[in-house]
Amino acid sequence: MNIDQQIDQLISEPQYQFTDAEKEKRLLPVIREQLKSHYRNNRHVKSWLDKLALDIDRIPSLAAVPPLPTQMFKYFDLQTSPGELQRILYSSSTSGQTPSRIPISPLTAQRQTKALAAIIKNHFGAKRRPFLAIDSPASNREARGITARGAAIRGFSILAREMVYAFDDHDGRMVFNEERVRDFFRRHQAEEVFALGFTFVIWSEFRKALLDANLRFHCPNLVLVHGGGWKKLRAQSVSKEVFSGTLAGLLGSRPENVLDYYGMVEQTGIVFIDCVAGHKHAPNFAEVKIRNYLTLEENGIGQPGYIEIMNLLPDSYPGMSILTEDVGEILGADDCPCGRKGKYFVFRSRLEKSEARGCGDTFREN
Ligand SMILES: [Zn+2]
Repeated sequence: MNIDQQIDQLISEPQYQFTDAEKEKRLLPVIREQLKSHYRNNRHVKSWLDKLALDIDRIPSLAAVPPLPTQMFKYFDLQTSPGELQRILYSSSTSGQTPSRIPISPLTAQRQTKALAAIIKNHFGAKRRPFLAIDSPASNREARGITARGAAIRGFSILAREMVYAFDDHDGRMVFNEERVRDFFRRHQAEEVFALGFTFVIWSEFRKALLDANLRFHCPNLVLVHGGGWKKLRAQSVSKEVFSGTLAGLLGSRPENVLDYYGMVEQTGIVFIDCVAGHKHAPNFAEVKIRNYLTLEENGIGQPGYIEIMNLLPDSYPGMSILTEDVGEILGADDCPCGRKGKYFVFRSRLEKSEARGCGDTFREN
């Protein structure tokens, strides 16, 4: 099997089935080939790997694959496929920072769509249901580039039988559409409703709008999935428990139906959704490493560090091992009560500010 076929197989086979050891065996040969291709097709990748004096064929383990800091996507054109792009994804640039620019080829886009569908089906089944997007349609408008928020809505919309947006756009502002939301719950509250939104938008806009309008719903089978933006909530001292409890209360569901996902625009196609045990798992075509803050060596179970996401989906950028600015911790491997195999981890926090890594700098954490 060539590399493309191996990747297709990893996407289409039942997810979360490999033990930690099996994953090492399945993923490493593919990543070696991908690294060679990225090396040939992008001068920045070439110069990076040349500096590391890396013999790609002799990389002994997944942990030995050099991690690429996410910041590199801000400063360099890391396109590694020669053909035309399907789209470019941008990271949401907060506080005036340069956004990351992620080039997406048609092949990468196709794999991301299939991969996300495989993950979502594993967690929620294939049944389509009423879908409340806690956002405005502007976040999901096809332009030259779409944001992480738009990409998430688009990906999860495979679960939608009917999609309703909770907000409208008015001159670039999000305005709550009370009537539409009331109508949605009036028609669907007895059903298995799926709601999705950006964590901070849900807390600061949606929750506030419900409170202001004195709205409460009773939707016991509603599942609310949310991601991103914990930094701002931590600043307001809103914990995951408070978040889940508050939203479950307002919507008439249970706190355990409020599920956090972790994802990043650099690794679109992969979302890490809480399992019933509250853990996050890597699907077949991805792996998670936790790296030591200072040495960047792989950390063991129970040692927090930077989250590194290894991802086999992209051919148009080097996504095989991206070192994030996020902090997480591996809790175990192969024995999660939910039955999914491989490592499982928790997301701890996002660094407030990151500087050059591995230089012994002190970082401020939130
Ligand atoms: Zn689990």
